[in-house]
Amino acid sequence: MAEAYDGGPVAALRRIGFLLERGREDTFKVKAFRNAAAAILPLSEDEVRARVDDGTLTKLPGVGASSAKVIAAAVRGEVPERLAGLEEEHGGPLTEGGHALRERLRGDLHSHSDWSDGGSPIEEMAFTAMELGHDYQVLTDHSPRLRIANGLSVERLRKQLGVVDAVNQHLSSGGAGDFTLLKGIEVDILDDGSLDQTDEMLDQLDLRVASVHSKLAMDAPDMTKRMVAAVRNPRVNVLGHCTGRLVTGGRGTRKQSQFDAKAVFSACVEGDTAVEINSRPERRDPPTALLELARDLGCLFSIDSDAHAPGQLDFLWYGAERAEAAGIDPDRIVNTWPKDRLLEWASNH
Ligand SMILES: [Zn+2]
Ligand SMILES: [Zn+2]
Repeated sequence: MAEAYDGGPVAALRRIGFLLERGREDTFKVKAFRNAAAAILPLSEDEVRARVDDGTLTKLPGVGASSAKVIAAAVRGEVPERLAGLEEEHGGPLTEGGHALRERLRGDLHSHSDWSDGGSPIEEMAFTAMELGHDYQVLTDHSPRLRIANGLSVERLRKQLGVVDAVNQHLSSGGAGDFTLLKGIEVDILDDGSLDQTDEMLDQLDLRVASVHSKLAMDAPDMTKRMVAAVRNPRVNVLGHCTGRLVTGGRGTRKQSQFDAKAVFSACVEGDTAVEINSRPERRDPPTALLELARDLGCLFSIDSDAHAPGQLDFLWYGAERAEAAGIDPDRIVNTWPKDRLLEWASNH
């Protein structure tokens, strides 16, 4: 006999999407379940049940055979087989270490929605962050010149800020407790170290991550100058994935950028800019030697998921494991701080 399940079909499909993303499975598989969730979301319980009974679920655009099986089981009040299998495969702890530190993380400062190169709408990212128990999630879509990632122009960013307000309003009226979706950006650090967004827009945000995405193979002296200028910029709060390296994964590998790490991290200390510990498994950035150097120089850190899909928000485990192994004092990790302290720090630039 199948185990009892009372979450309903939409929750079952969302959970399957989450677990596939968390387990780093191919995005096309995830899409099928997320599309099916979106397809049945507007339908009443009776309508869904009627379609299960007469076998017409797959007539709905976006609902395939495997999603239909999940929906049918959930409607019958049984744990869908696919969900049970994925809980077993991808539902357990992601790391052996870092658990105590992961417990202390109250939020995440780096994430993307489908407004730039993420795969899910803003509200789905926010719901999932809330379900993970975060107090805050910073939405940090890309800046205009990163065209390949559909970076946001001034106009689109302005519009996005209105959407973030609306999502927060919706969540607080729904009794979501204290969760807040914060306004942010992952702004490109241009070749000369300036930032790829207007000061006026940057000033409207709660927090700003700045990252190098182009000319990663620049000469070390030029790259050092470029990064030092950016992290000294009073508007920058977090230096994203500092070396740009890729150690594994579908995009192939990429060597780390060359720069004077001591100069860059010292400038981070002076500029009160946190060094990001990017939790994505293909990044693991900074490399351990640089992480330890930043620790010894007295840097602040943020452990970020850099999630491009809801399930990837759980990647924080990976960064927590690395930070704990490097013996970094949790109070120097800005996302262990309560929201008010974080916001004050981020605005004091
Ligand atoms: Zn980036
Ligand atoms: Zn990013």
